[in-house]
Amino acid sequence: MRFSVSTGAREQMVDVTRRVAEAVVESGVQSGVAVVFSMHTTAAVTINENADPDVVTDMVEGLDRIAPRDAGWRHREGNSDGHVKTSLVGPSVTVPVEGGRLVLGTWQGIYLCEFDGPRTRTLDVTVLPGVR
Ligand code: ZN
Repeated sequence: MRFSVSTGAREQMVDVTRRVAEAVVESGVQSGVAVVFSMHTTAAVTINENADPDVVTDMVEGLDRIAPRDAGWRHREGNSDGHVKTSLVGPSVTVPVEGGRLVLGTWQGIYLCEFDGPRTRTLDVTVLPGVR
C-alpha cells in the first residue's frame, strides 16, 4: 500500500511510524518484514530517535554540513544537496514484523526525510510474510 505525506519545510524529518504500523495491520501479515520505500530522488527514509526532537534537527543540520545547499553543484535545479542527502540516507528501511506489529526499539521511529520541500511525498509499504 501507499500513503502520502505533506511536508512543511525544505528540509524536515516527519515521523511516519504510525502510518507504517497501520499499513502492517491492513496487510494482515502477522510475521515477516515491512519494507518502507520512498518513491523520490530528494526524499529518503530512515529510522532514528523519536524521543528528543533535537536529534532529528541535528540529523538535518549534520547532513547540511556534509552537503550544503550552496556548494557549487552542477545540477541546474538547485537541489543537488537534496539528491546527495537522499542517497546518503537511502530510499528504504526494512523493519521486522511480529504479532502483526512493527518490531522497533523503545526510542526508534520511522522517518520520511524531506530534502527539497515542502511537497507531498509518497511512501510505498510492502509487508512480506515469512518465518521469523
Ligand atoms: Zn534535482
